[in-house]
Order: sequence, then C-alpha cells, then structure tokens
Amino acid sequence: MTSEFDLIRKYFSRPPRQAVLGVGDDCALVRVDAGAELAVSTDMLVEGRHFASGADPRLLGHKALAVNLSDMAAMGATPCWATLAIAMPRASDKWLAAFAKGMYALADRFDVDLIGGDTTRGSLAICITIFGEIPAGLALYRAGALPGDDIWVSGALGGAGLALESPGLKIAARRLHEPEPRVELGERLRGIATSAIDVSDGFAQDLGHILERSSAGALVHYEKLPRDPALLREKDPRLVARCVLAGGDDYELVFTAPQARRDEVEALAADLKLALTRVGSIQKGDAKLQLLGANGKAMAVPRGFDHFAR
Ligand code: ADP
Ligand code: MG
Repeated sequence: MTSEFDLIRKYFSRPPRQAVLGVGDDCALVRVDAGAELAVSTDMLVEGRHFASGADPRLLGHKALAVNLSDMAAMGATPCWATLAIAMPRASDKWLAAFAKGMYALADRFDVDLIGGDTTRGSLAICITIFGEIPAGLALYRAGALPGDDIWVSGALGGAGLALESPGLKIAARRLHEPEPRVELGERLRGIATSAIDVSDGFAQDLGHILERSSAGALVHYEKLPRDPALLREKDPRLVARCVLAGGDDYELVFTAPQARRDEVEALAADLKLALTRVGSIQKGDAKLQLLGANGKAMAVPRGFDHFAR
C-alpha cells in the first residue's frame, strides 16, 4: 500500500525548473516577470463524462495537461506552472506511473513545472490548473474581432469528433486522445490576431463565442474548413459536416486577424509548419454565423457540445 504522501513524493515531486518553490510546502511560490500578466485557467476531466473507464492512463496524463495548454494557446499566453488535483478510487502504481509519464512528457516539451496539487480518494477525476505569462496588454481576447477581419483555423477539424462517433477508427483516435496544443501559434499571434479561441466544443459553437463577445457576425465557407484526413474516406456528408462543424476536442485555434496581416499569418504557417486556413470573414451586425455551402447556398449550423443541454 502506498500512502498519500509516498505517492505524491514518488510521482508528482519533480524539482521545479522555473518556480521558486515547488511541491512539498503549504504553497508553491512563483515569480512573475515585471510587465507580464498572469494567465490562469482550469480544466477538469471526469471519468464517464470526458473519458471512458479503463482509459489509457498515459493518454489521460497527456490530455489533462493538453486541454489546459490549449487554453493558454488560445489566450496567447506562455504556459509556466501547473497544479494537479486528482481523485482516484485506489492508488495503483502502474496507473500512476503511466499517468505521470504522459503528463510530464508534455510538460517537459513546454517547460511547464508541476508545482502542487491535491490528492484524494474518490471517483476518478483529474483537474489541472495552469498558470502562464503574457506581456501586459497582448493577450488574445475573444472580444477583439472587427468587421472585415479574416477568420483563420489552424490544423484540421473533425478528427476528434469522428473518433467519438467511430471509436474503432484508429486514424482518428489519436486526435481525440492525444491532442496537440497550439501553444507556439498562440504566442506568435500576439500583436497579429484580434481575437482567438480554441476548438473544444466544435468550430461553430466556439466561433460563436468570439462573435458574441465581439458583437459581430461571421460569413464562413464550409468547403474551406480544413478537414482532418481521417474524414476523407467518410461517405456520409451529414456525418462529415457534424464532425467538422460541431465535433469537439480538436483543440485547434480559431482566430481573427486584419486582412492587412494575411502575409504575416501565411509566413507564420510556413515557419511553424502548421496549416493556417482562411475560412471566412467577420461581418457587421448580429452575432450570427452565416455558413455557405459549396453551391453558395446557406447551410444549417449543427449544434456543438454542451454538458447541460438536453
Ligand atoms: P495540504 O494538506 O497543505 O493541502 P497536501 O498534503 O495535500 O498539503 O500536499 C502536500 C504537498 O504535495 C503540497 O505541496 C501539495 O501542493 C502537493 N501535492 C499534493 N497532491 C499533489 C498532486 N497530485 N500533484 C502535485 N502536487 C501535489
Ligand atoms: Mg491538500
């Protein structure tokens, strides 16, 4: 039997690289750059809700941190520190070792210190809070989109949604279980993008948040939306549309930028070796998304994910 304290020592006590004080005291201590704003975000993954029971612990460790890193990316923040609150029914060494491996592998890639947390017995739930820095005034709010701005999408959409609809499909599974947070893109969009959000609940719904906060509308060409390669073999156009427009969990960035910055966005795509696709534009008027199909006709917008909607 591992005690709570042994477990923390064994799996979650790596010395911090940047924090003043990490795990082991009543609080962690960090020093924030003068002239920076501290960005803070929390995301929780609950068994049976966000992942199936028996899910691979290494992938859970990755995803729990990845979804938080994605929020940092969407704000243009540089992630620095994280805390982990975890409830689990039992302390299994095998499970914990794999979970810690998945989480630290991603943390190391982005130089993020795990600096504290809480550990308790209970149904499996994982809650990470992440802290990052942004030079003051440069954060990418949802609220900054202006009529005339281009709307851009990183990478490709719909892969994670397809994996949810067809759990046996290997080529889509990675998108769902091992998302790649677009941290570097977020940082490089400071001073270029006028607004940004990450796609966690579906493109249409997440773009909708930008529109509401920015009090503007949008015109999007459905055919321009970058599709995950896994969708290319799908024959049912309704399934494809649902995955691309309303599939959650892709963790790509949707952002807006002035037309005058197109060249810079394209140069950024080349530099990051990451597709950045222009899919439409911000319009004057109500916070409504007008979606045009291949024939130029208006298309219905499927609904995105909502934990409490019925
Ligand atoms: P307290 O009783 O003061 O809340 P705990 O006994 O819960 O302290 O935790 C002891 C130390 O271990 C603290 O520094 C806390 O931040 C850290 N810690 C606890 N659980 C985790 C975890 N899952 N991951 C990282 N650090 C943890
Ligand atoms: Mg505690």
